Amino acid sequence: MKQAKREILIAEDDRKIAAILSDFLLAEGHSPTVVSDGLTAVETVRKRPPSALLLDLGLPLLDGVEVCRKVRTFSAVPIIMITARVDEVERLLGLSIGADDYICKPFSPKEVMARLHALLRRSEGKLSMAAADTWTIDDDGMRIAHAGQFLALTPIEFRLLRSFLAQPGRVFARHQLLDKLHEDYRDVNDRAIDSHIKNVRKKMSAAGADPDSIAAIYGVGYRYTPKLVDE
Ligand code: CA
Repeated sequence: MKQAKREILIAEDDRKIAAILSDFLLAEGHSPTVVSDGLTAVETVRKRPPSALLLDLGLPLLDGVEVCRKVRTFSAVPIIMITARVDEVERLLGLSIGADDYICKPFSPKEVMARLHALLRRSEGKLSMAAADTWTIDDDGMRIAHAGQFLALTPIEFRLLRSFLAQPGRVFARHQLLDKLHEDYRDVNDRAIDSHIKNVRKKMSAAGADPDSIAAIYGVGYRYTPKLVDE
């Protein structure tokens, strides 16, 4: 599917990286604008709201975290935070600063474009619709069906899958998934999440759903991305 042209703001003080992102966005038919400090980034979002913001964490004048916080006081623009290290992502997820996705340097521009397009679709509600089309959630019965076929989920698995389906495209850190589980399950540790996810995937597969739609994000956690029919 060809993307419609979008205004994308790049806040990045490394000129080479900004130029690479800019070139890829132009090649995808978008209209990129580059700013190289945090204050200008916030002002630009305010004056000329973009469709999405690619935001470097380490920016002069105002860092990415502060930019994110300030922008969130007046805008719901989709934000992809670009960080230098995986452990920064974990820290940022803990701060709940309101970024929608995270990418680590060095990144492949193709990956950035794929994430950006997923985010744009999500912000337009298309991912939610794609998810809603095939999934039926019965909260009272704690049951979930894929294309009419119920998955044999344990209560923990139900809560996990429920969280993913409610927010397609969102990255969940392991500790955030842990928080989604009921306090009765205090014995569940970070790594146990992995084995629960493994079981959820098996059961998705058995019900004809794509188990790879729940993907591990290295060093961070998991994300659910429904496949769109027109992709
Ligand atoms: Ca930087």
